[in-house]
Amino acid sequence: MIDTQDIQITKVKRSKIDETDFGNLPFGKHFTDHMLEVDFIGGTWRQISIKPYQPFMFDPSLAALHYGQAIFEGIKAYKSQAGNAFIFRPYDNFKRFNLSAARMEMPIVPEDIFIEGMRVLVAIDKDWIPAREDYSLYIRPLMFATDTAIGVRPSDTYKFVIILSPTGPYYAHPMKIYVEEKYSRAAPGGIGFAKNAGNYGGSMYPTSIARRRGYDQVLWTDCAEHKWLQEVGTMNIFFITAENKAITPSLDEGTILDGVTRSTVITLLSEMGVMVEQRKINIEEIIDYYSRGQLQEVFGTGTAATISPVQELKYRETVMTFDPQFWKTAPRVKKILAEIRQGKREDSHGWLFPI
Ligand SMILES: *Cc1c(COP(=O)(O)O)cnc(C)c1O
Repeated sequence: MIDTQDIQITKVKRSKIDETDFGNLPFGKHFTDHMLEVDFIGGTWRQISIKPYQPFMFDPSLAALHYGQAIFEGIKAYKSQAGNAFIFRPYDNFKRFNLSAARMEMPIVPEDIFIEGMRVLVAIDKDWIPAREDYSLYIRPLMFATDTAIGVRPSDTYKFVIILSPTGPYYAHPMKIYVEEKYSRAAPGGIGFAKNAGNYGGSMYPTSIARRRGYDQVLWTDCAEHKWLQEVGTMNIFFITAENKAITPSLDEGTILDGVTRSTVITLLSEMGVMVEQRKINIEEIIDYYSRGQLQEVFGTGTAATISPVQELKYRETVMTFDPQFWKTAPRVKKILAEIRQGKREDSHGWLFPI
């Protein structure tokens, strides 16, 4: 384990926190005073530094820009009602980050850099963690290839960085979702399970088409038959049926992201007595549940918005509509999760990592 002495810390002369409007914090727009940066050169990770948030300067031949070795994570830090600061399940993101790294032929980031570096960075910028309910500090670790030469091959050098962004509540209207039948996000054997930059680049065109049709996001389906459900944008998907059952696509094929919120929601649903099935889900099965009046709730899960209700799901000529204001299950899960984060309910799973 590193201790703080192993990190070279350069603090800002003057914090910009007073110029930040904490009453208006749109997602991902404001960044804190400091960032963490480490370079991988010659097969080892070099000096870890925490320094004022600042731009990078690069050659136009930077490998990440050409061949896409670029991965990231999304984590949140909160302050409990008592004022204690903690990070939510960072070890899960740490493991997933390194799965993404391995798939993209990038070096593994050791725990002392990822977890301990993050902890020290968040501790330095802890005044930026909003204390209000539904507010948080979004943590964005990222790694990218930094060789400066053209030619398709794994880079020899990389940069690992962590930046922090205070965010307010996610006031989004319930989502309208278009079940995608033409474009694909991921295929078995591909990179769907990795949080790598290219997955999002490839999703923008189909998502824009869906937006022009009046939908917020697409629900991705398998690449062969376009019938087996995968996930939505940056969210995993859940269906609640009248039998008090939750169904969500399984991770087996490696085509969807193993969401930390997905895992949290599965645990909480099970504890609420809801039977959770992780398996292949065919769109026809969902339509069948709906037409029998047995489909009660549909929602997405992800770190940014936690739980996002779906008000409309469209597949070909079938339009399924829902009224989230009458739901019982998703709001209950959301409430329990908020209470754990606020310290009002016991953290019996050890999800809160103290700073
Ligand atoms: C990040 C992400 C999710 C949600 O994962 P969480 O760990 O819950 O934030 C789901 N799907 C995709 C494609 C993602 O990028």
